[in-house]
Amino acid sequence: MAMNDLSENLLNLRRKYREIFKTASEEIAKRVEALRPDGVTGEFFDVGNKIWQDAVLKMFDDEIARDIYIKWQEILAYRKMFSCNRCATCCNLACSEFSPEELKTKADAGDKFATQFLSVFEPYKNQEEAQKVYPEYMKLLEENKEDKVYFYHCPKLSECKLCTDYENRPQICRDFPDNPLSILPKSCGFYEWKQEVEPVALLCHSMMEIIEFYKEKICTSCRD
Ligand code: SF4
Ligand code: SF4
Repeated sequence: MAMNDLSENLLNLRRKYREIFKTASEEIAKRVEALRPDGVTGEFFDVGNKIWQDAVLKMFDDEIARDIYIKWQEILAYRKMFSCNRCATCCNLACSEFSPEELKTKADAGDKFATQFLSVFEPYKNQEEAQKVYPEYMKLLEENKEDKVYFYHCPKLSECKLCTDYENRPQICRDFPDNPLSILPKSCGFYEWKQEVEPVALLCHSMMEIIEFYKEKICTSCRD
């Protein structure tokens, strides 16, 4: 069976991520090693290495997390060079890992994103209706059945694919897409932005994952 463009893109993205992740892990391991205090032997995660581990945690926060933050701000600033061309795909097919009921529970608990999402989108009555909007994407989801996905659409979209309340559209509509690692259709005016910044975004993501791994492993209980 021929692989569609989206599936191929996803496979490529995963391959690139694995490569970038490996390089980032090696880079961080070198920086951890560079902070090894004099006279300390053994492995970084060994119990009793509090001074070394504290120095690394500080380096993560003061240097790596700061660099990631700056890079991410640059990615978002560069996004302003692109604009929505009103293809309406994101209005017609919004996906969430949460069901309408779960989103309602989250909104009731004060989750702002869930509140805004529910103020815009309604669930599709069935999968077939959603399928018609973006068949290629739906096929991709079927092929990668990792998590359940719920499909929504905005009733404010007119039949000629225009927002009927454009001036008052909520922030989540104005901000979309705010993550270059999300799947975007080629018709999206931000597709080129995504392509250009994707390597840096992948690097930021892998760095975050790696420092989170270190932080979890250096849990306080292991060190006391
Ligand atoms: S409010 Fe307008 S911009 Fe936002 S999803 Fe609905 S139709 Fe699209
Ligand atoms: S998918 Fe992209 S171009 Fe299309 S309406 Fe959404 S933001 Fe605009």
